[in-house]
This record gives sequence, C-alpha cells and structure tokens, in this order.
Amino acid sequence: MIKLLVLILVGFVVYSMISGLRRPLEKKPPKQRSRDGEPMVEDPQCGTYLPISDALPATIAGKQLYFCSKKCLKEYRKSH
Ligand SMILES: [Zn+2]
Repeated sequence: MIKLLVLILVGFVVYSMISGLRRPLEKKPPKQRSRDGEPMVEDPQCGTYLPISDALPATIAGKQLYFCSKKCLKEYRKSH
C-alpha cells in the first residue's frame, strides 16, 4: 500500500519536472481533466499542495494560481 503511494508520488514529481522543463504549450483549463489522476496544485501563499478541484482558482497578474482558501488568496493579493 505504501509502496503504491510512493510510486504515485515519484511519478508525480517526475511528471512535474518534465512538464516544468518544457514551455507549457497547451493552455487548457486544468479543471477539464478527468477526476482520477487529478493534478495537484500549490498554494503560492502558504505552500500547501491540494487537488485542483479543492483549490480556489484566481488569475493574478496574468498568472493562473490556486489557493487553499479565500484567506490565502486575500493575503497573496495584498502582497503582490
Ligand atoms: Zn493556503
């Protein structure tokens, strides 16, 4: 069970490294992806990772960002 979780985690890290190296060519809204294999997003304010469906999307300075809560979104807006 734990092995499987580690595999998933490693797979995710490798995947994000690969996609981080490339320029994002596809600009599809990530919300349209299927539920399984749901991408995780990082809250830039507090650094929390959460499933994209639980995140609060916001576009700040032309960037699509995701927050764990309205509080974080407000705090981030204040400081940027
Ligand atoms: Zn947060």
